[in-house]
Amino acid sequence: MIKKNVCLQSEERICKNMESEDIQKLQESEERYRNLFETMTLGVVYQDVKGQIISANTAAQEILGLTIDQMQGRTSTDPRWKSVHEDGSDYPGKTHPAMVALKTGKIIKNAIMGVFDPKYKQTRWIKINATPQFRKNEKKPYQVYTTFEDITKRKKSDEALNESEEKFSKAFHSNSAAMTVTRLNDGLIIDANESFETLFGYTHEETVGHNTNELGIWLDPQERDAKVEQLLKQGKLPLHEVTFGTKTGKNINVLFSVELIHIKGKTFILTTSMDITERKKVEERNQKLLESEQQLTEELKTSNEELLVTTEELQIVNEELVHQGNKLLKINKALRESEKHFHDLADNIPNLAWMADETGWIFWYNTQWYDYTGTTPEEMQGWGWQKVHHPDYVGSVTEEWTSNIKAGKAYDNTFPLKGKDGNYRWFLTRVTPIKDEQGKVLRWFGTNTNITELKRVQKRNQKLLESEQLLTEELTTSNEELQATTHELQDANEELHHNEDKLLQAYNDLKTSEESFRGIIENIQDAYMRADKEGTIIMASSSAARMYRFNLTQEMLGTSTLSYFKNSEDRDFAIEKLKKHGKYNDYEVEARRNDGTFFWVSQNAQYYYDNHGEIQGYETIVRDITQRKKIEAALKKSERSLDKAQQIAHIGSWEWNIKTGDISWSNELYSIYGVDPNSFTPTLSSFGDYMHPDDEEYVNQHVDQLLSEGKPHNFDFRIVLDDGSIRVLNTLAEVARFDKNGKPSMIVGINQDITERKDIELKLNENITKLAQSNKELEQFAYITSHDLREPLRMITSFLQLLERRYNDQLDQDANEFIGFAVDGAKRLDAMTKDLLQYSKITTEKRDIKPVDFEYVLEQALINLKVPIEKTNAVITHDPLPIINSDEHLKVQLFQNIIGNAIKYHSKETPKIHISAIKENNQYLFSIKDNGIGMSPEHLKRIFTIFQRLHTNEEYEGTGIGLSIVQKIVHQQGGQIWVESEIGKGSTFYFTIPIE
Ligand code: ADP
Repeated sequence: MIKKNVCLQSEERICKNMESEDIQKLQESEERYRNLFETMTLGVVYQDVKGQIISANTAAQEILGLTIDQMQGRTSTDPRWKSVHEDGSDYPGKTHPAMVALKTGKIIKNAIMGVFDPKYKQTRWIKINATPQFRKNEKKPYQVYTTFEDITKRKKSDEALNESEEKFSKAFHSNSAAMTVTRLNDGLIIDANESFETLFGYTHEETVGHNTNELGIWLDPQERDAKVEQLLKQGKLPLHEVTFGTKTGKNINVLFSVELIHIKGKTFILTTSMDITERKKVEERNQKLLESEQQLTEELKTSNEELLVTTEELQIVNEELVHQGNKLLKINKALRESEKHFHDLADNIPNLAWMADETGWIFWYNTQWYDYTGTTPEEMQGWGWQKVHHPDYVGSVTEEWTSNIKAGKAYDNTFPLKGKDGNYRWFLTRVTPIKDEQGKVLRWFGTNTNITELKRVQKRNQKLLESEQLLTEELTTSNEELQATTHELQDANEELHHNEDKLLQAYNDLKTSEESFRGIIENIQDAYMRADKEGTIIMASSSAARMYRFNLTQEMLGTSTLSYFKNSEDRDFAIEKLKKHGKYNDYEVEARRNDGTFFWVSQNAQYYYDNHGEIQGYETIVRDITQRKKIEAALKKSERSLDKAQQIAHIGSWEWNIKTGDISWSNELYSIYGVDPNSFTPTLSSFGDYMHPDDEEYVNQHVDQLLSEGKPHNFDFRIVLDDGSIRVLNTLAEVARFDKNGKPSMIVGINQDITERKDIELKLNENITKLAQSNKELEQFAYITSHDLREPLRMITSFLQLLERRYNDQLDQDANEFIGFAVDGAKRLDAMTKDLLQYSKITTEKRDIKPVDFEYVLEQALINLKVPIEKTNAVITHDPLPIINSDEHLKVQLFQNIIGNAIKYHSKETPKIHISAIKENNQYLFSIKDNGIGMSPEHLKRIFTIFQRLHTNEEYEGTGIGLSIVQKIVHQQGGQIWVESEIGKGSTFYFTIPIE
């Protein structure tokens, strides 16, 4: 039985040959294996060629959570496995290790797979090896067995580990403290975070793979080793202060901690450094503050003590003050008492009384006042007293009061005051100022004494007096009547005398009147003449003789008034008028004097009549108006010239009377506005009507300002004429008169038509811009051409020189000479382009302005001119030269060019050149004087023009650009240049350099 059992069908042949002993051994071995199979912790599953499970050991059943019955017959592709890869993706049955091993015949190792454990309802992770099994001589496996271990737990702890490592890594890299991880065995840093880079200045690459001593972080390298030793003992060094060095060499204070950590079974050192340099500084500052606070406290203590002393002193002063105060109080009390006395007194006197301050403001009345007037203190205070005065008197009373307040004088006045019954009574008022020692009025004291009674008595007295007089008179009359008859005789006698006297009196009166009349005539300035009907003068004032230049008035009598007219037409016109109206007035006419000269007069003439109304002749009054006429003529003339001037200057003037609104324009203003003065009346709105709409607001602003501030305003605005054309006017407006309140009442202004000027200005600006542009372009052009020309020129020169060298012996004399000319020409062209380039560079290159020592400038120029100086033995002297803000490089060139010329254009004598500089206002005037050949004065201006030379190249080599460069350098800094020279007498070049 057993034998049969162990012999499988396919092995029957072998089995047959087996000895029973062998079978025994085999059986034992099989048993051992089977036990092993069943007891091993690895799961083992056999699958046939189709993948169906044939058998599985106990471990497999436990791991997969299935019984052998549940498993047998199940294939790898069975969906119930719910197999997955590690990343959670589906693990199809066809790709299971067993299936792959069957298919490929190869062993599959360490495949990781998750399968669903129905017992615990969770995924179980297994690591699988699949081994295909072959029958002898067969290439395809007939079955496969898989062994697998349960790695669920390990996987979970792996994941946890990963997670915690990730957390660590995050904490490590994002930490604000500088951190490193160092391998314990070799001390090399394997990682450092960003904060470490920032704090210590080493990049990640510079840090990793090095130890901290290599980086020089430890100030004392031995300190590191000591720390490591301590760390190994304690497993951790808590936070403590350390000073480290950084890459830049700066020392920093850090709070430093170290601990051992374990990553994936290995031990590392984790360091943490927190920068506390700032904190240290703050701490130090705090310390200092604390110290200064202490010091302050000390000082305060001292000053406090001092204060205590002062307080004591103050207390003494205080006591004194209190003492004084008590005294004052006493005085005050006494004063108050005396005031009360006064008030009592005042209230008990029979008069009304009052008191006012120095301005006359009444602040107190006695009770009698209020009793009499029936008023209250509120009504009366200040100037309220006027209410109880009679309207006819209040004016004069007030006037007298105020004038005496001003004068500070006492005075009396009498006037009626209204009582509370409404009746007025007469009061005598006496007002006295109360003054201080300096005589300044402090108050006024007044009393009003009722004098109505007095007045009444006075009136009665008057009446008595009158009746007494009447009586006396009556007595006298009766007495007189008695005497009368006696006198009648006497009277008749007297009358006779009297009539005689009357006659005399009448004569005298007439005489007096005639004299006074004559006096008037004689004393008037105007000429008076009386003529008969024919015009013959019968009477003339001496002023008439003077006016018409007669020596004596008599000479004038008998002459005809008609002869004093200059023109006969005027005379006839006057006669006509007189005949028609009997008189004429203010007739202005030219008159003739006795000496034949003419003058302007204004005549008034009228007939005079006799007692019967018959015309007797006429009287004329003549006034000399020469002066007025002259002024009028001058005025006309000046008006005309003003008109003319305005016309020429296109200036119109105007006046605006703000009070009446009247506006007047000068003639030219009408013409500027293109309107006819005969039909156009300017008004305030005329300005607005013609104003360009865009300018209205701005002009109104100016006008408003002018009216409110009263200051002159000058501004431009545009007007649109009737024909649509636009003119630009400049206006200057100012206040000509202010009213009483200081408000402008009259504005005057001038408007100038500046349209053409504006146009020209615009065009000029345009032209300047264009000119500047074209200048710039020209300079650019000169620069580019001179720069670019030099290259081909050099080529020509060098090839010509090559030709000369190589073919010298093959060419004839002429050819060689021609080549020589060509070389010379090319060289000159090269020199010219070089100079031109330099010329154009002056404006194109950036200038370097700084204080420049002109002694140094001269020195440099002379170094550059070493060769010609030595060749000619030139003697160059100079005065002290200044330091000026300038461009050194260009100024060396300036000196070099002028001095170079002075040497080049030397005469037969040894060249002597002298340089000097003098300060004038805000510039230096330089001069460079030589004793060379000189120049004819008419060419002096030309030499500064580019390419202008006074000599041929055969005489003196040159390009004609040197002085143009010089001029440009001088002009560029705002200076001037000129030369003074005569042939044979040397030349002096002058130029100025502004100081700023
Ligand atoms: P260049 O010297 O190259 O001809 P410049 O512009 O420097 O050109 O001078 C222009 C001309 O002015 C010269 O050709 C020369 O005739 C005249 N000139 C300049 N400096 C002097 C001088 N110091 N004495 C006489 N002539 C001079």
